[in-house]
Amino acid sequence: MNQRISVSINSDENGFIGRECPKCKEYFKIKFGTGLPIHQYTCPYCNYTGDNDEFFTEAQIEYGKSVAIKKVVGPILDSFHRSFKKLETSTKGGFIQIKVRTSGNVFKIKYYQEKILETNVICDSCGLNFSIYGVFSNCPDCGRLNAKFIFEKSMEVLKNKLKLSEDSTLESSLKNDLLKDSLIGAISSFDSFGKSLRDKHNTKFLYDTKNLFQNFLKLNESLKIYFGKNIKDYLSQQDSDFLFKMFQVRHIYEHTAGVIDNDFIKKLPQFNLQKGRKYILDKKEILLFLEKLLSLAQKIYLEVE
Ligand SMILES: [Zn+2]
Ligand SMILES: [Zn+2]
Repeated sequence: MNQRISVSINSDENGFIGRECPKCKEYFKIKFGTGLPIHQYTCPYCNYTGDNDEFFTEAQIEYGKSVAIKKVVGPILDSFHRSFKKLETSTKGGFIQIKVRTSGNVFKIKYYQEKILETNVICDSCGLNFSIYGVFSNCPDCGRLNAKFIFEKSMEVLKNKLKLSEDSTLESSLKNDLLKDSLIGAISSFDSFGKSLRDKHNTKFLYDTKNLFQNFLKLNESLKIYFGKNIKDYLSQQDSDFLFKMFQVRHIYEHTAGVIDNDFIKKLPQFNLQKGRKYILDKKEILLFLEKLLSLAQKIYLEVE
């Protein structure tokens, strides 16, 4: 006997449905009705591409099976139960004693709950809403890397941090810490952004520099070799010089508490007279830096993705 039973899989309270890659077994979620009208997914972690129904999670399959079993076997068991009951009455007073006991728990539905993941993303290329472990991944619908979206989000967070520094009740050392954190945070996000691009497109960047996106001159060299453009060609000479300076400022804030040293002066001779003094961070300047860095990230992304 062949019987088809359709079981519907419900979404979580935000409209997301869990998916599990048949190859790497990793879990992600997508929102139905967003993204491309296709019946295939690409795993955001390992890039395996396959049909829609290859991506059911273990828990969804168990749930489906339990619903099907209850629907098919439940009524059969009921009728068994009734016939045994008949037998029970017909043998009353006789030699054979039959007692029928059934437990209601035999065909329990295996309910499940979708997991809470770390990062929610809306793909800016196809509009799919999806949710993943970790931060960087490819879109399950169109396969594009979400690095630009993540970087834009982190720039927003840093901008808000900068806004906090405007609070007049804050101590000046605390204010300065917020400025410093924003500067250092921006370059470390830029570096993570760069790493995810390099992981996916390892033939489009210099491979022998570890933190390529933290190193302005090396990054410039890499872009020149692979795309024939300097950073100033993506932005302007002025913006490129400004970014270069801020990368060096970040460096001294990371290593010499913001004090201008020989290394700094070698790269930026105009600071010669300020040797041994602290580079004073300014909110407006860092805000501008976030803006220019974002613009550079967007241009590099378009170049490779
Ligand atoms: Zn996978
Ligand atoms: Zn997409």
